[in-house]
This record gives sequence, structure tokens and C-alpha cells, in this order.
Amino acid sequence: MITVFGSINLDLVVAVHKLPKAGQTVSGPDHQTFPGGKGANQALAACRAGAPVRMVGAIGQDAFGPLALTNMQAAGVDLSAVRTLPGASGLAFIGIDAEGENQIIVANGANARVDADWLQGCLSKADTLLLQGEVPFSQVKRAMGHARQSGAPVFWNPAPVPEEDFISTLDAVETLVVNGSEAEDIAARTGLSGSLDAFIDHFATDSRRVAVTLGAKGVRAGFAGHRYQVASPAIKAVDTTGAGDAFCGALAAALDAGTLFDRALKEAVAAGALACTATGAQSSAPRREDIHLLADQIV
Ligand code: ADP
Repeated sequence: MITVFGSINLDLVVAVHKLPKAGQTVSGPDHQTFPGGKGANQALAACRAGAPVRMVGAIGQDAFGPLALTNMQAAGVDLSAVRTLPGASGLAFIGIDAEGENQIIVANGANARVDADWLQGCLSKADTLLLQGEVPFSQVKRAMGHARQSGAPVFWNPAPVPEEDFISTLDAVETLVVNGSEAEDIAARTGLSGSLDAFIDHFATDSRRVAVTLGAKGVRAGFAGHRYQVASPAIKAVDTTGAGDAFCGALAAALDAGTLFDRALKEAVAAGALACTATGAQSSAPRREDIHLLADQIV
């Protein structure tokens, strides 16, 4: 089983002609609401990819919280460990202009008050703990501690990259996934210079897989002295929102099911590509059958 400990948001989106400057008001037609948050997105993506998934996180005591859970509920994610805390839910206020450029303000709400101790009793050797970067790093670190105690492998997608020093925590991580700009950020902060392969060789070990996603170019990865490269199939990209979350969810689902790393990477690349062919972060997360069909075509 995959246990996700992470953020749950509701995204409020307004299409506007032009994004506002500081002090300016702009208006658009009706707003749209979408369940979001990287934790919830990846939980949904892993579930659609075929894994049994449990979500551990929090919503607030407002009308937005239950709406943020609807997609996970419909997909069959176990939500029994999601808490309702006093105060507001996590909200993202998103403006999108005619060119597709966006402006986002996030209210962390209940996501800032999650507690890694909620994972007690949720993890065993047979579980994967899937983490991101949208809840406080102090709790991410404690969550890794709980995983270590119970023997559950940790899959970490540090997005956004924590401001705190986190390199020593990588010892607790079995699978690390970042996108190209996050890899550059981490390399700069650790004083690593050189190619992407040098980054991968530095962080990949006999017990830690490292994957760097590269948008339309697919993924490069390393593990146990081997390098991997999977090109993304050519697709007609409609909206790349959620591609990284679909990738992580599918990769975690494949690894949790015991799939070998090279095949798991193909399934993840297929999932990321399929997520680009539909709009939205959660609604575009592809299903297992479609992921496998496309992964079978990747050489
Ligand atoms: P993030 O969304 O975190 O920035 P990426 O943009 O690297 O992550 O996308 C994650 C994965 O989704 C890629 O490795 C690739 O498999 C797939 N993907 C993303 N953009 C495209 C695209 N334009 N065409 C095909 N596949 C894509």
C-alpha cells in the first residue's frame, strides 16, 4: 500500500484577460474550483495507476475542505486518516490570462498544521511512504523517521525544494524524484557543478534511486551503478499541469507493486505524458490500462 503524507488544497481559478499588477483589480467571468495540492494529486495519481492508497493530511473546518477531497473519494483513496482541523483549508487562488500565464497565491491553511505522528500505525515494511514539499519540512523529516522505524521505503518528491538544509535527510530516502529546475536548485545549493548525469551519479546509490524529469524529453535516472533514460512519447500537449504528480504517482505505484525500475520509469513517463493530454491536475491523471498500453510502446 502507498501512504501519502502531504498537502490537500482546493484550487480556485479565474480566467482573466490580463493578470493584475500590485494594487490593481481585474475581473473575469465565473471562477472554477478544482481539488489540488501535491499530496492529494499524487495520491489520486497513484490510485488511478492501480495502487491501494491511503491519504494522511488535513483539511480545515470550512466549506472548501470536503470539496478538496471529492476526486480522491471518487477514486477510492482511503481518507480515514485525513483530519479536519479548526481553521481554514489549504486554498490556491489562481489567475490565468489569455496566454496561459498564471499568478498563484496559496493559503496553506490546515496543511501548515499537519503532524507526522498521525502516521503512527499507518506504516509497515509492505508500505511505501510518498512525500512531497508542500507541508512543513519539520514534519516531512519526522515522517521519514516513522518510515525508518517501521521499515517502509520512502519516496520523496521535494517540490517545492525545502528552504532548510535537507541533504542529510536523503539517507532515509529510497526514491528521489525532482524536475530539471529542482535538480539545478539542489545542485547549486550543494555546490555541485557539472552535468545532469553528475547530479544523478552523486545522489543515486545502491539503495537510492534518483529520477530527474525533463518535461517533453522524458526522464533520466540512476540506481545501483546504472543510468537510465526514457524518452517521452510524442503527444499533443494540451495542459502540462500535473505531469510531475502523475509521474510520481505512477512511479510509486509501480515500485510499490514490485515492478523493476526500468519498466517503472516507462510507466511513469507514460503517465506524465498522458496527463499532458487533458486539462487540470487531478482530472488528467491517467488510468492503469492507458498507462500500461502506452508504456508497452516505449522502447
Ligand atoms: P513537473 O510537472 O514536475 O515540472 P515535468 O515537466 O518534468 O515535471 O514532467 C513530468 C513528466 O511528464 C516528464 O518526465 C514526461 O514524462 C511527462 N511530460 C511532461 N511534459 C511533457 C510533454 N510536453 N510531452 C510529453 N511528455 C511530457
